[in-house]
Amino acid sequence: MSKLMVWIDQDLCTGDGICEEIAPAVFTARDDGLWVVKEEAAYFGKTIVFDGAEGDGHGPDGARGVARVPDELIDDVIEAAEECPGECIMIEPFDERAIADRGV
Ligand code: SF4
Repeated sequence: MSKLMVWIDQDLCTGDGICEEIAPAVFTARDDGLWVVKEEAAYFGKTIVFDGAEGDGHGPDGARGVARVPDELIDDVIEAAEECPGECIMIEPFDERAIADRGV
């Protein structure tokens, strides 16, 4: 069970990668140089990257691409949001409907 979800507004991402330096299990780079969120198998049984790509292991990007935050990484994700120069890391309380809306 996670208490929080996180997503990135790619329109504001500057592509510096600070988020991944702080929380590499939650943030990852996409081919276009913008960063996206992910859920790792180590925490959720299956890895899903919310990069907007089609197919197994991928989910929507932007506001629909909310990743659950492992409870043990909450502090790191909050730090990443605070350090993010684009102010584009959005943290929200866990919401089962938003998780279902991802379609993955
Ligand atoms: S820290 Fe923010 S601006 Fe920098 S890559 Fe991550 S999401 Fe993008």
